[in-house]
Amino acid sequence: METPENETFRDSIGTINAEGKRAWVYPKKPNGRLYTYRKWVSYGLLLFLFTAPFIKINGNQFLLFNVLERRFNIFGAPFWPQDFHLFVISMIIGVIFVTLFTVAFGRLFCGWVCPQTIFMEMVFRRIEYWIEGDRGKQIRLDKQPWNVEKIKKRVAKWTLFFIISFMIANVFLAYLIGSDRLIQYIFTEGPLTHMNTLISLLIFTVVFYFVFAWFREQVCIIACPYGRLQGVLLDAKSIVVAYDYKRGEKETGRAKFKKNEDRPETGKGDCIDCFQCVHVCPTGIDIRNGTQLECVNCTACIDACDHMMEKVNLPKGLIRYASEDNIGKKEKFRFTPRLQGYTAVLFILTGIFLGMSFLRNDVEATILRLPGQLYERKNNNIISNVYTYKLVNKTTTPIEDIHFELLSHQGTIAPVTHQNFTVPKQGLAEGTLFIEVNATTLSGDKDRVKIGVYSNNKLIETTTTAFLGPRNYR
Ligand code: SF4
Ligand code: SF4
Repeated sequence: METPENETFRDSIGTINAEGKRAWVYPKKPNGRLYTYRKWVSYGLLLFLFTAPFIKINGNQFLLFNVLERRFNIFGAPFWPQDFHLFVISMIIGVIFVTLFTVAFGRLFCGWVCPQTIFMEMVFRRIEYWIEGDRGKQIRLDKQPWNVEKIKKRVAKWTLFFIISFMIANVFLAYLIGSDRLIQYIFTEGPLTHMNTLISLLIFTVVFYFVFAWFREQVCIIACPYGRLQGVLLDAKSIVVAYDYKRGEKETGRAKFKKNEDRPETGKGDCIDCFQCVHVCPTGIDIRNGTQLECVNCTACIDACDHMMEKVNLPKGLIRYASEDNIGKKEKFRFTPRLQGYTAVLFILTGIFLGMSFLRNDVEATILRLPGQLYERKNNNIISNVYTYKLVNKTTTPIEDIHFELLSHQGTIAPVTHQNFTVPKQGLAEGTLFIEVNATTLSGDKDRVKIGVYSNNKLIETTTTAFLGPRNYR
């Protein structure tokens, strides 16, 4: 059975045509109250995104995600691979938060905060409007043959797109390798002395350029995993950008506006079928077909429809933030048991995370027996075991004059490599040491021994490790 024209949105996406080719979207330039708010939110977020890697707190980069060297700074606090449990908890909190937020407010994040939307709609798209004009002009330019005007406009647009992609790639790199190192590579040592980094930078640039110049809304429609989650997270109570079909269609459905017509009398809905909400949509959908996977909740259609309602003297809000139940059953937003459950779990996990973050040590010591080594019996009944140690300094100042002391047993600790050493700021020290204990003080063949780490004779960390001794000595 052939699908009626107005039902095709159910089995195909709006940006692919009948031949399976890309149907290019030429969204009309948005304008209105919500668009103005979104612009200000975007300016703030863009400022944050571009400056965060260059802000320092106590000498630490504000945000750093150095995956290669496994060093991370979150809001100026350094996290090491040893803090991996905190990373896992923060990821779980993130997932629950996203779930809770999406259940309640749909894709609010996509429309207002997502970097893809912000760069696409507030940077690249606005350059396009500036150079090529609004929807109609863009369509005309696309159709016209390659003449001087088209070449000039396209070269200007693509050049600007490339420059901005290059800037984004540089900032992206500052998040990955650190802003100090990036500045040093560019201004002190010269980019050509770090060919691998330069090549990575150019690859990032090309990827950003490809995404914003060509791939565009396809990121949200077919590539973004968060977008795919909507189908399972949204329910009839979730607040999304929605068309009030009750009001828009009424008894006889939507119809074009006719001057001097008593519209309520005719039974026609408030939708005047002007298609402004469709033309303005950056993902090329008709929100009047209901909540769809492609909708990024950008609110452009709300502004467009409000503008039309004002023009024809009908109340605004035909398209608005609302839930299915709000429109269909006139129900108000409720804090449902599902939301209450998610919130409780979120609070508990956040509490655990904060507690663990505050309690985590500035210095972390690990002392492990050298694998494959047995204990050694020495003169005067002394038993000796050999260990490797690793000390991590998470602070921004060096930890000086470090030595170890045995706290649980009488005995000695003798580092092989260094005595009274220093761990550099945000660095680590590794080495080998012997622990020697009189056999008479051991309680079995495998004791736990407690070791204190001292800096300038002040105890800064304790750790335990296994100590092997002779069986049945006592
Ligand atoms: S339907 Fe409306 S809110 Fe959704 S993407 Fe299109 S314009 Fe934005
Ligand atoms: S902008 Fe409003 S009135 Fe115009 S087609 Fe869309 S929903 Fe109907």
